[in-house]
Amino acid sequence: MARPVRFNIHPIKADVKDNISIVDMPEGYTGEGFFTTQLSSVVGLARKNSLWPLPFATSCCGIEFMATMASHYDLARFGAERLAFSPRQCDLLMVMGTIAKKMGPIVKQVYLQMAEPRWVMAVGACASSGGIFDTYSVLQGIDQVVPVDVYVPGCPPRPEAILDGFMKIQELVGQESVRRRNGEQYKALLGTYGIQ
Ligand code: SF4
Repeated sequence: MARPVRFNIHPIKADVKDNISIVDMPEGYTGEGFFTTQLSSVVGLARKNSLWPLPFATSCCGIEFMATMASHYDLARFGAERLAFSPRQCDLLMVMGTIAKKMGPIVKQVYLQMAEPRWVMAVGACASSGGIFDTYSVLQGIDQVVPVDVYVPGCPPRPEAILDGFMKIQELVGQESVRRRNGEQYKALLGTYGIQ
């Protein structure tokens, strides 16, 4: 007997024939054989479900990220299966762990090597604010060197918190206008970091 086809969009409803919910469908107009919407919505939908993270893990929070990637939590469910350590292939920089001041320029260099559009997530107290290491050698938050989109609190944050942060990034990505990166406001933001 053929196995029933299951969709992972909504597992409970998917078991009911003709009752599959397309949760991410953008707003628009539907008619007989057509659907119209904004270009930004379609691009945002594609981008948010195909993020390629670059894990910049320096210490304990990186271990939580490994759990987030593993089968139990499975970050791949969100379209982020493809991790890469090549900045030019990635669009989401995930900084996890204590960042020493000496490493600040390296974080910035990795950020600069990523193509636009790019997003940044500070995972854990250390990456967000220096955490418990209020010392001469530790950077008190990576937002001193690169702009951060989402901060995930915790020391360490549990994988659920990392997933929650990732979903917040997806919200931002999905709602971002295709023109934002060319805007004066964005250029001014990068200017505050000395980035042209
Ligand atoms: S926030 Fe806590 S768990 Fe994460 S890197 Fe810092 S000390 Fe380690």
